[in-house]
Amino acid sequence: MDFLAQLKITALNPGVSTGSEWISSKGEQIDSFSPVDGTKTGSVMAADETSYNEVIVKAEAAFREWRLWPAPKRGEIVRQVGEALRDNKEPLGKLVSYEMGKSLQEGLGEVQEMIDICDFAVGLSRQLYGLTMHSERPSHRMYEQWHPIGVTGIISAFNFPVAVWSWNAALAWVCGNTTVWKPSEKTPLCAIAVQNIVAEVFKKNQVPEGVNCLVQGGRSVGEWISNDTRIPLVSATGSTRMGKALSATVAGRLGRSILELGGNNAIIISKDADLDMSIIGAVFGAVGTAGQRCTTTRRLIIHESVYESFKQKLVKAYGQLRIGNPLDTANHVGPLIDTDAVKMYQDAIAQGKQQGANFIVEGGVLEGAGYESGCYVKPCIAEATNDMPIVQHETFAPILYIMKYNTLDEAIAMQNGVPQGLSSAIMTLNMREAEQFLSHGGSDCGIANVNIGTSGAEIGGAFGGEKETGGGRESGSDAWKAYMRRQTNTINWGTTLPLAQGIVFDF
Ligand code: NAD
Repeated sequence: MDFLAQLKITALNPGVSTGSEWISSKGEQIDSFSPVDGTKTGSVMAADETSYNEVIVKAEAAFREWRLWPAPKRGEIVRQVGEALRDNKEPLGKLVSYEMGKSLQEGLGEVQEMIDICDFAVGLSRQLYGLTMHSERPSHRMYEQWHPIGVTGIISAFNFPVAVWSWNAALAWVCGNTTVWKPSEKTPLCAIAVQNIVAEVFKKNQVPEGVNCLVQGGRSVGEWISNDTRIPLVSATGSTRMGKALSATVAGRLGRSILELGGNNAIIISKDADLDMSIIGAVFGAVGTAGQRCTTTRRLIIHESVYESFKQKLVKAYGQLRIGNPLDTANHVGPLIDTDAVKMYQDAIAQGKQQGANFIVEGGVLEGAGYESGCYVKPCIAEATNDMPIVQHETFAPILYIMKYNTLDEAIAMQNGVPQGLSSAIMTLNMREAEQFLSHGGSDCGIANVNIGTSGAEIGGAFGGEKETGGGRESGSDAWKAYMRRQTNTINWGTTLPLAQGIVFDF
């Protein structure tokens, strides 16, 4: 495992940092076990309250300096971070794959996303545009500016252990904010590696200590962040359960949050679909990352006239899936993150059966050589109805529910008929169907695709979803605005003081 040494990861790592400096802490020790083979890869020390406070004080002080750096200069630092990530793509991609369990291609792809968002943020650093307005008063000018907001908390999930952080950090930095990252306690080593990579760039450029902070730990450290009035903005990625708790706390102190929560994504397979293309989109969407993407395809809503033939194709494709070590590129499906996730998968299958789901491809936990970690499961498919409680719920595992529809209105109602609203797709060559799906009467999700699946996204668009997915947007388009505060400015360059709305105030 050369990649650990290349990324400067040791057996026991400090878990609290203000950028280049590591701070000792007396929090719990978090051990990282690889779901690939069950090996204990390393440990980190979680933050305690003292070290956490030290970090936030540093992050606040750094903000006062960093916000005064010209934005393009901050962009130049992010450009160098992107270069450092390019240099480390191979070892970091391997670590992501080994610690989280996704395929090597997806691990490398995740690092590529980090590089892409850095490139995006470099350009953005010269495009933090505000509008100008015409004043109703003579000899007045109005315009708006976007200013840095302050210390930004980033709480991330295990399934994208590095990319989600970068979507937030790259934007937050060019916007002039400092960041405090609390990664998932299930993938602590990925965060150590990223911290080491960024530290070199920051040190070389004399970036103030405190711009890029790390506080490792579990839920309690996340709760310190959501309660902390020194952190005006918290961006949180994870389950809807976490989002509901966190957003109530942040809103209770009138802070701002960006929420990226669970999905329950469906593809509508029309009678006018290219079925060969649809099968690739559906299978990759359902089994990629072993069903542990927020955009994983969990439901297929199939037109009744192609239902049977598509079902046969699906069963055949599932029969060809190779499940095993994700670092071996011959395999399609790796492990779940841990044995708790395996238990949730088994419970969901049992509940599905109780609720009447008919499993046409059976699931199960794999045992024997190569599966010693106990985290490898079989992707499965069940015929179900949209109203079953298990179908309404996001199970973070490769369980695919399929169902029939007759009219497109009915299919769209089923697609929208779940509490979550992240990603959606229609497979059709019929322009009317595609346009209806994308219209204001169509999909209610943050992401709606035509002739590609639900899974994955490019960094250029704003990423996020509606309803229980939380409503936040990250990454491209104008998502940066959520990381800044807007200020409206009115300047009087005349010799009198006219009031707005024609009000006269004479004395
Ligand atoms: P999780 O909710 O268990 O944990 C996510 C993070 O929140 C972790 O860092 C955890 O320590 C922290 N946390 C948990 N409870 C908290 C609380 N009360 N206050 C503050 N912090 C708290 O999620 P997970 O199992 O790591 O990730 C899987 C979930 O994340 C899925 O639901 C998936 O759909 C979602 N997800 C969403 C997106 C998106 O962009 N919409 C992206 C990735 C993952």
